[in-house]
Amino acid sequence: MELRNKAFETKAIRQQVPKTAQNEHSVPIFATSSYQFEDAEHARALFAQEVEGNIYSRYSNPNNDEFVDKLCLLEGAEAGIATASGMAAMFVSIASFLNQGDHVVACRSVFGSTHQILTQLLPRWGVTHTYVDVNDPDGWEKAIQPNTKMFFFETPSNPALDLLDIEKIVAVAKAHNILVNVDNCFATPYLQNPISWGADIVTHSATKFIDGQGRMLGGAILGNREAIDKVMFMARHTGPAMSPFNGWILSKSLETLAVRMDRHCSNAMELAKFLSEHDQVAKVKYPHLESHPQYELGRKQMRKGGGIVTFEVKDGLEQGRNFLNALEMLSLSANLGDTRSIATHPASTTHSKLSDEEREEVGISKGLVRISTGLENISDIIEDIDQALHRSKK
Ligand SMILES: *Cc1c(COP(=O)(O)O)cnc(C)c1O
Repeated sequence: MELRNKAFETKAIRQQVPKTAQNEHSVPIFATSSYQFEDAEHARALFAQEVEGNIYSRYSNPNNDEFVDKLCLLEGAEAGIATASGMAAMFVSIASFLNQGDHVVACRSVFGSTHQILTQLLPRWGVTHTYVDVNDPDGWEKAIQPNTKMFFFETPSNPALDLLDIEKIVAVAKAHNILVNVDNCFATPYLQNPISWGADIVTHSATKFIDGQGRMLGGAILGNREAIDKVMFMARHTGPAMSPFNGWILSKSLETLAVRMDRHCSNAMELAKFLSEHDQVAKVKYPHLESHPQYELGRKQMRKGGGIVTFEVKDGLEQGRNFLNALEMLSLSANLGDTRSIATHPASTTHSKLSDEEREEVGISKGLVRISTGLENISDIIEDIDQALHRSKK
């Protein structure tokens, strides 16, 4: 059956690897490190990449292929590879395209470990970078150098939920022959498809909303065939391969991504509206809330507002910490994209090593709280947040 023209949910459920001789309905786990050749000629042809087929699970495995082929269908990508974690995807997707002396332009609010790759690791191989502030749309053009080879960004940004205009940034990149690599982890393919706005590479941490249940790590790199061939070369020989068990789980996770994201988004929207009216809250940010400074852009490039809501408590750091301590149901964790709602206070945890100025540059005030809205009943989520806000008052 041709799935390309089917709806999102249908693709996510019906994309499966061919059945084995057992005629199973649910795809089994292919727990095998290697595969047999039919004869010497078949082995030769496989190695020469003249025929398709599995050789060794560092190169390919049916479970990982099902996961990544499905993700390609959902993102509108030609090809992709699955990786053991989101960070493996970030590193390999960057390293596959850069040579000594090249330069990357990235948004300042990239994920913490991506920041370490750009600032600590790539310079060891002579690759430099320039950061652009999320609220400086002209910064991308200005940051370009003759050796700039890649733009890298996330939208919505973490944790401030500022948006970057994918189509506009791609237009700047195209005019200078620069590859665009978008970490689409926050939005998921259900809400936003960077390739449809012209991005070359889409990277994912499948650990977050794609798994959606906090069980495992995973990642993926997607793009056109030519780009992914380059990525494949590096991945085959450096070994960031996903385990078949994770591929099996994550492919099943994608089957329910649409229904889960619908609920994450409706819960988050309801929470954002509730917080907007709360007397202990100074400011709320949610991409599909009309008060978001980039509401129009949010409506344009995201089908729904996503599962994350951020807000500022009135009295800064102290009240932010008190709020976390007063929560009874919500989990305190640095993770996101889980069935369980999670609260994070970036200024005292994930971003505590930054100076006040650095935090300001990425939009993190001392009272900023990030909620990853889970799938519990929204009344219970709101009740817990409401009581914690009242108890956190000075
Ligand atoms: C979590 C995360 C990553 C890293 O993914 P892991 O699966 O933890 O390695 C990268 N980018 C973003 C935006 C993330 O939220």
